[in-house]
Amino acid sequence: MVELAGVNKYFGDHHVLTDIDLSVAPGEVVVVIGPSGSGKSTLCRTINRLETIDSGTLTIEGSPLPDEGKELARLRADVGMVFQSFNLFAHRTVLDNVALGPRKVRGLGRKQAEERARELLERVGVADQAHKLPAQLSGGQQQRVAIARSLAMQPKLMLFDEPTSALDPEMINEVLDVMSDLAADGMTMIVVTHEMGFARRVADRVVFMADGRIVEEKAPADFFDAPETDRAKDFLSKVL
Ligand code: ATP
Ligand code: MG
Repeated sequence: MVELAGVNKYFGDHHVLTDIDLSVAPGEVVVVIGPSGSGKSTLCRTINRLETIDSGTLTIEGSPLPDEGKELARLRADVGMVFQSFNLFAHRTVLDNVALGPRKVRGLGRKQAEERARELLERVGVADQAHKLPAQLSGGQQQRVAIARSLAMQPKLMLFDEPTSALDPEMINEVLDVMSDLAADGMTMIVVTHEMGFARRVADRVVFMADGRIVEEKAPADFFDAPETDRAKDFLSKVL
């Protein structure tokens, strides 16, 4: 589904991604963890072509991602991304937030787009908020709307970059539960998170990054119970 081979990325002199090899199979859930500044967000942004790469290859479903143009827009529409900040359209209702993308990008009619939006809002448990503006919702509800909005584009891959980091503790689980359901439904997912319980329960594979490199990559139980490197041991001793 997604394949990175020998990917390198610099910001000026700063080598932020070094020789990244990563492949994610259809339906797989990969959780990316690591210290602040290790390159996790850059990795996500690279996969979505929000950042260019300096060397190596990146393919999604076998096609290299082009740098620009229509083809890029189409491929990018196949990749949903959910960030720490919810980035909803503030002056649109919840329903519009979810229905707008499919209308504009996928060319759906209003009725069909809104029907699908209602189904998705139902799926993430906020159907009763459809008529409200985002600011009238809790953080957890807004993030669930953001997930519904991404799903409305029918992505083949979902990227999550610390989707619960900006939430009050009591709202974290409602978002993680939606993500767990999505994983159980077979969505291919790359999730950057500090929620180690989620990683252990839901990930098929944990990727541990430090200093722009993938340092360890294994099944969650193996990673959490028997980390091999000092970097991973040190990281886990701080977060667990
Ligand atoms: P965090 O856990 O704090 O979110 P991260 O693992 O997501 O960290 P990145 O945001 O990918 O880390 O950043 C990796 C490195 O690249 C950091 O040293 C950061 O300062 C640097 N960096 C990120 N974005 C840019 C940019 N646009 N220009 C220059 N340097 C950047
Ligand atoms: Mg980050």
